[in-house]
Amino acid sequence: MAATILDGRKVADDIKNEIAEEVAILKKNGHKAPHLAAILVGDDGASQTYVNNKIKACKKVGFEYTLLNFPETISEAKLMTEIDRINLDNDIDGLIVQLPLPAHISAAKVTDKILPHKDVDGFTNENYGRITSKNPGLLPATPFGIVELLKRYKIDIKGKHCVMVGNSRTVGAPMSTIMAYHELATVTVCHIHTQDLASHTRQADILIVATGKPSLIKADMVKDGAAVVDVGITRITTSENTRGYVLSGDVDFEEVAEKASFITPVPGGVGPMTIASLLLNTLKTTKANHTI
Ligand code: NAD
Repeated sequence: MAATILDGRKVADDIKNEIAEEVAILKKNGHKAPHLAAILVGDDGASQTYVNNKIKACKKVGFEYTLLNFPETISEAKLMTEIDRINLDNDIDGLIVQLPLPAHISAAKVTDKILPHKDVDGFTNENYGRITSKNPGLLPATPFGIVELLKRYKIDIKGKHCVMVGNSRTVGAPMSTIMAYHELATVTVCHIHTQDLASHTRQADILIVATGKPSLIKADMVKDGAAVVDVGITRITTSENTRGYVLSGDVDFEEVAEKASFITPVPGGVGPMTIASLLLNTLKTTKANHTI
């Protein structure tokens, strides 16, 4: 394999250790520990795993946490009331609502109900709009984590051609904006309607893929020496292990690792960095809200 692995798990652990040190100092100086609340609706296995990983990370760095697990049948109005309650709770610094939500609840409405200074996922309209501010609010966790990962491996971004495959509100759109506006890359955004996807991806110095389409990106779609970031996580059913599924990224890892200079694995790449960013956002907002 030619490529260096962008080890998100290791970098996220480094960040968590840095945060834990800072939290210990805060507590020693008589300040409160950051407090993250997570709302989980229903009992989807993947969502439960994601939320549990976030709680585990809170424990590791010394944050307080609150998990609110509501049944699938909760009404949108009741969920909005719960968010209001947390918005008013001065002890809670950050709030995340695990997506997806059941079909009868508007994710856009619920997400935007969170007060922007508690929105540690960076999904509210205000934080989203402030991405293109010299003084951004809380940045969306996944794009924030990807930039941090590239920087910690000293990968040049400024002036490079970044091709983003996917234009979702949670990943592709904010990622491409951050790369163009803050990191000064030259950015191409591709999506489901893009014609001849490979002609674009082959031009990328930095290729970021967030589609949820397992192994969409093959080696012949990647330029020699590119840095490849695979955001996708899809559960594929299998009878070959006791869990009953394997996780697949959007990039054909085995093939592409032969051609790229850097590549993220799935799992162990972007996922842990998203959680690390969530913790960084929670620490940032705790310090700002309590003028520490
Ligand atoms: P989404 O479904 O909202 O968006 C998918 C995007 O991919 C769309 O822009 C669509 O146009 C594009 N797309 C789909 N098929 C395509 C194709 N054949 N060619 C080109 N573009 C195509 O998904 P999302 O929320 O952006 O998530 C994408 C993937 O990333 C999912 O697998 C999700 O689970 C994963 N994800 C991972 C993390 C993490 O922390 N690792 C965070 C968020 C999302």
